[in-house]
Amino acid sequence: MKKASHTLIGLSGFWLVFQPHLQQLAVNHQTSTALFACMIGSIAPDFDIYASNMNLRFKERSLWNAHRGITHHAILGLLLFLTALIIPNTAFKAFVLGYILHLLADMLSKLGIPYWSYQDRFALKLYETGKLSEFLVLSAIIAFTAIIMHQII
Ligand SMILES: [Zn+2]
Repeated sequence: MKKASHTLIGLSGFWLVFQPHLQQLAVNHQTSTALFACMIGSIAPDFDIYASNMNLRFKERSLWNAHRGITHHAILGLLLFLTALIIPNTAFKAFVLGYILHLLADMLSKLGIPYWSYQDRFALKLYETGKLSEFLVLSAIIAFTAIIMHQII
């Protein structure tokens, strides 16, 4: 999924999860920090693209040298989620929300995300990055968010 798509999904998730708390966040001047943290979290897993480009000399892909390797690991997402439950910091929680939404969005793709070794992956194969199917999945996620928010507000 493209960076813009991940960012839009992160913003949708932020709106859904933090909407009931926006007034409190605004009182504490935390809204922009939390929103920025969520946006960074929603693109952070793809920083491995730069590292994997440097590791092209490796013929066999692994968690440590390829895109959608260790930074996209399902266990890492689970550990971040559990850590966010413990650490009472709104910006960190927003970062983790964006990060997990990124992993979930990539899980819907053809390549998916690893749950054990690089070859053991969750992949629902609903779209291919950069194709019309990505746009349709993104549109469905945003429409779903809008419908839910319309029901809440
Ligand atoms: Zn990714």
